[in-house]
Amino acid sequence: MRPPVTDEALTRRWHQVRQRLADADAAGILIGGGADLEYLTGYEAMPLERITAFVGRLSASEVLPTLIVPELEAARVRRRPSVYGVATWDDTTDPVSTIASALPQRGRVVVSDDLWALHVLGLMHQRPELDLVPASKAVGGLRSIKSQEERDALAAAGSLADKVAAQIQHRDLPLVGRTEAEVAAEVADRLIEAGHETVEFVIVASGPNSASPHHHPGPRAIERDEMVMFDFGGSFGGFCSDTTRCVYTGPVPQDVRDAYTVLTEAQEAAVQAAKPGRPLAEVDLAARRIIGAAGFGDYFIHRTGHGIGAEVHEHPYVTELNSEPVQIGHAFSIEPGIYLPDRWGMRLEDIVVIEADGARRCNNSNRSLVEV
Ligand code: ZN
Ligand code: ZN
Ligand code: ZN
Repeated sequence: MRPPVTDEALTRRWHQVRQRLADADAAGILIGGGADLEYLTGYEAMPLERITAFVGRLSASEVLPTLIVPELEAARVRRRPSVYGVATWDDTTDPVSTIASALPQRGRVVVSDDLWALHVLGLMHQRPELDLVPASKAVGGLRSIKSQEERDALAAAGSLADKVAAQIQHRDLPLVGRTEAEVAAEVADRLIEAGHETVEFVIVASGPNSASPHHHPGPRAIERDEMVMFDFGGSFGGFCSDTTRCVYTGPVPQDVRDAYTVLTEAQEAAVQAAKPGRPLAEVDLAARRIIGAAGFGDYFIHRTGHGIGAEVHEHPYVTELNSEPVQIGHAFSIEPGIYLPDRWGMRLEDIVVIEADGARRCNNSNRSLVEV
């Protein structure tokens, strides 16, 4: 179990967020639960219809943020009087008015992207003078710059996922004749045995199903002489792992081998492009150019990667439209893929963390297309 975050760490995080809000000309912030709320308070809210919110204000005098919780959850909230005040609402009061009274009088208020429409619309109705803007547009990801400690935690989580990838590649996990769903259940067990605290997701996609990037493992039995794509991750110490490896249940045909060589080169080029100061778009394009030049451009149907941390998908996103620079402390996946409908798909995914001299991989299992 991870140790509770200290008051000092929370105060430091809030000061960093305040700075970013000031840079974005915002007067306050409203976070309605989720990983950002936990990041700023250390409190894990129940993701239910009863809202738990974090409200922070920027004003001349130093006002502590407020953690607004449903009355029945209040006993679970750790009191941290130097970090935040606590306000409660109960089933006979309107939580939106409690939130509205903690917000600044006027100006721009940054709201978390996943705040329920119910609450946003209620707030717009009660406080029409506020200029509400989504967090991703105003400040990007609040948690996208990882401390050294957080980067090490991601590397530790990654090495646990690598253990399971190695077991698959070493034929420790029988495939042929078993259904995708059976194999996925076993992968989930192995993720826990390897040391993860939770399983976040497991994709097992066999044969033509591998051409669907987010295939849901189903009743199809894995056959000989076909592609099997594995994409899985769990969490450890509050940080997520996420890796993709493909194996072939027999000798790899030449055309598949050639395509896989292109994929490997594309992934390596993107890892090399992930240097501080270069645009994230360049990381995406480094992979995309190589896949395009080999004639597979139309079959690389998703972005090259996504940020990762307390959540499997978070800021920053590695797309050809993201001109934001790569920064020291960023953590994201690099996962180009090639998907030929009705035939096969392949993807190669590692998590990287950005250090001063470039990308450090958190996944280091065999990157070749192993025959099993
Ligand atoms: Zn994905
Ligand atoms: Zn993945
Ligand atoms: Zn991923």
